[in-house]
Amino acid sequence: MSDRNNISPRTIAAQAGHFIDPETGGVSPPIHPSTTYARDADYELIGASSYSRTANPTYAQLESVAATLEGGAAALVFASGMAAITAFFETVPSGTHVCAPHIMYHGTQDWLRRISETRKIEVTFFDAGDPNALADAVRPGETSAVWVEPLVNPTWDIIDIVKAATIAHDAGAVLAVDNTVATPVCMRPMELGADIVMHSATKFLNGHSDVMAGLLITREMDTRWEEIKRARLLIGAICGPFEAWLLLRGMRTVYLRVERSSENALKIASHFDGHAKLDAMLYPGLPGHPGHDIARVQMNGGFGGMLSLLVSGGADEAKRVATACRVFVPATSLGGVESLIEHRSTVEGPESAVPKNLLRVSVGIEDADDLIGDLESALAAI
Ligand SMILES: *Cc1c(COP(=O)(O)O)cnc(C)c1O
Repeated sequence: MSDRNNISPRTIAAQAGHFIDPETGGVSPPIHPSTTYARDADYELIGASSYSRTANPTYAQLESVAATLEGGAAALVFASGMAAITAFFETVPSGTHVCAPHIMYHGTQDWLRRISETRKIEVTFFDAGDPNALADAVRPGETSAVWVEPLVNPTWDIIDIVKAATIAHDAGAVLAVDNTVATPVCMRPMELGADIVMHSATKFLNGHSDVMAGLLITREMDTRWEEIKRARLLIGAICGPFEAWLLLRGMRTVYLRVERSSENALKIASHFDGHAKLDAMLYPGLPGHPGHDIARVQMNGGFGGMLSLLVSGGADEAKRVATACRVFVPATSLGGVESLIEHRSTVEGPESAVPKNLLRVSVGIEDADDLIGDLESALAAI
């Protein structure tokens, strides 16, 4: 007889956790909009929930699938990626030190600058392109958390997660990984030593540019996890049940979508590598990318759907390419089924450290030839 004990995350995702509604036989999980839950004659709760800021069956179904995808013990859903990030940093003790890459998602960086001003937390931003920078940045006994993005947004430098985990753990710190860009399809940071994985589920996990949500996943049910749960409850950083349900639905196709995005991205990167109108093509799947060898070891389902172009010239030429596109949509964000192109330093503002001629591309699931043709025409226009 068959059993479900060794089922792969791909199957768990496709079946939304193998949900069959016990009352109706429905194969799509129901949405539980109720904010409050009744008690029985003994004044005991009838189900597992009492009030939906703490827990709700729709969140629970989503969280169990998310934990399986990342190989963690448990997950929590949040109102956005930033809500998940700020809940994590709520649990970092005052008087300690945090390390994070110098180029990374700008919202996380802004938040770290903010807490270094408003709380007794010191932050060191290390150069993610320098393999020794993290080891130099940690302070054993003082550093409480190391935060990394394995693919550093938007240069896609690669951080070696096994090495980062060893450095963090030797210093007595927790390693938290923002896995938004790589996704569990390409990389599972917990298998490489991460303690906490974070997602802006707004991006590839949902995949349709129509839900804001975030996730934290833990390797262990420890006191930190209890504090993170409490932070979500007390800050109230929870999404609505409908968003949670949409996200669970989006995650059913995450493997198909991310695999196709990765294939398309590799085709585009290979086609434009060395192009006369480009100073560089940044994609970790290219053998000439400085992080390629590490990416090959730690990513095993493709190199992801994100790449960047350094356009010959400056900001004006780059923006002209973005606006000349007719298939790529000139917009921020990433991870949807439709391809997006953006002038990153405009979006990040005047203080941005991102090169002025950089265009960030989120590759969708369209026909790769349409995407290549569109970029060729746009580059020909400058
Ligand atoms: C978008 C993003 C975030 C923030 O997530 P929101 O859902 O927009 O709050 C964090 N990290 C990365 C890498 C992102 O792309």
